[in-house]
Amino acid sequence: MTAVLKTRTGLALREVTLTYPDGESRLTALDRVTLEVAPGEFAAVAGPSGSGKSSLLAVAATLLRPDSGQVLIDGQDAGELSDGARTALRRERLGIVFQQSNLLASLTAVEQLLVLESVRGGKPRAARERAEELLASVGLDGAKQRRRPHQLSGGERQRVNIARALFGRPSVLLVDEPTSALDHERGAQIVELLAEITRTHGTATVMVTHDRDLLGRVDRVLAMHDGRLA
Ligand code: ADP
Ligand code: MG
Repeated sequence: MTAVLKTRTGLALREVTLTYPDGESRLTALDRVTLEVAPGEFAAVAGPSGSGKSSLLAVAATLLRPDSGQVLIDGQDAGELSDGARTALRRERLGIVFQQSNLLASLTAVEQLLVLESVRGGKPRAARERAEELLASVGLDGAKQRRRPHQLSGGERQRVNIARALFGRPSVLLVDEPTSALDHERGAQIVELLAEITRTHGTATVMVTHDRDLLGRVDRVLAMHDGRLA
């Protein structure tokens, strides 16, 4: 695989405001949010349902453009890039684990990671080895790597999602409610895994959650209310 040399400065949001159309007026989902997460730092954003957590991740993921403010990924201002350059930035620097698991039903765990590589055009052999190593590192052994999503538990599917997000060696890892479908113990294991990944891969990691019981392993907790970050 091609080794891309990355300057890593992590994620920064500056005075980000995002509104959605809401009948005649607009609803403010993010209200002047400022946030910095350094490489190797594991930050959690905790807040009730509807407080703007998923909106925050969508903006940080450069999937939604804010009304105002800046989103910087490794120092690059996403708002100043062309659509093509922003897509490349997302592919090369961001790992995203969505709230809704979007694994493909017909593919095995290892193939979920490799679809991306076939798009990138890397060497198939090296890619397969890397996919297998990553899946093993998130706790899925060889037999489980050959299972399809319906043959895995919710926690195991979440591990596949995380491994897939790491495949492109992201500098910023964004994770939306990774534990919402899991019992407490399995949820705690996923948070522990994210803490370990942040340390070993040096990602600037942001996890959003409404579950405050899971925040023991996090470096920093930010509270979100009505689109504002405390
Ligand atoms: P959370 O993830 O914390 O539950 P969201 O970011 O999903 O919060 O939503 C924040 C607010 O924005 C909520 O009031 C929600 O109803 C609203 N919202 C989210 N997405 C949209 C959308 N696509 N169009 C209009 N309103 C939205
Ligand atoms: Mg949400």
